[in-house]
Amino acid sequence: MIEEKGILFILSGPSGVGKGTVRKALFEQDTNLKYSISMTTRSKREGERDGVDYFFRTHDEFKEMIQQRKLLEYAEYVGNYYGTPKQYVEKMIEDGHDVFLEIEVQGAMQVKENFPQGVFIFLIPPSLEELKNRIQDRGTESEDLISSRLEEARNEIEMMDAYDYVVVNDDVMNAVSKVQSIVQGEHCKKERV
Ligand code: 5GP
Repeated sequence: MIEEKGILFILSGPSGVGKGTVRKALFEQDTNLKYSISMTTRSKREGERDGVDYFFRTHDEFKEMIQQRKLLEYAEYVGNYYGTPKQYVEKMIEDGHDVFLEIEVQGAMQVKENFPQGVFIFLIPPSLEELKNRIQDRGTESEDLISSRLEEARNEIEMMDAYDYVVVNDDVMNAVSKVQSIVQGEHCKKERV
């Protein structure tokens, strides 16, 4: 009757919806949670650090990880690769920690196939207009990239039905508290205890 393994939570949703902000605020409040740092081929944004925000890697290094089957999932997103290193996730779950992935939709769907016992949470913006404002306010992308990300967001939102939970990110703390309730609820599920 003692729960030993952690739960894998997949926090997904369109770029710019605030996944990172919600995840960071959540982690400030729960020390049992572990964040899986992704690997990417995109260039570092100002202020980002290798091994903290992402593992920044070359295309060749990324391809090698794919070939060696060391990624739980990966996806090409707006011209770059992003992926989740498998070993860390498996070890943390085995050790009883809950692990959060913060990934886009194609990757989340791969996790659903490879790790169906995961809990899939979709974060949505209050509206697409609000999403555009958020990406613009971030000020890190050119107009072209903003359009590609919005186009991608429209496609991503259509995938909402494949998720276990949908959380509207109208306000960060509100969204955090909903995600916390989901985490607690999942731990109380009878099949887990
Ligand atoms: P950004 O370039 O804004 O950091 O990330 C672009 C998109 O890739 C975001 O939606 C982000 O959540 C997603 N992403 C980040 N890491 C991963 C990953 O490991 N796998 C997948 N599939 N998507 C990721």
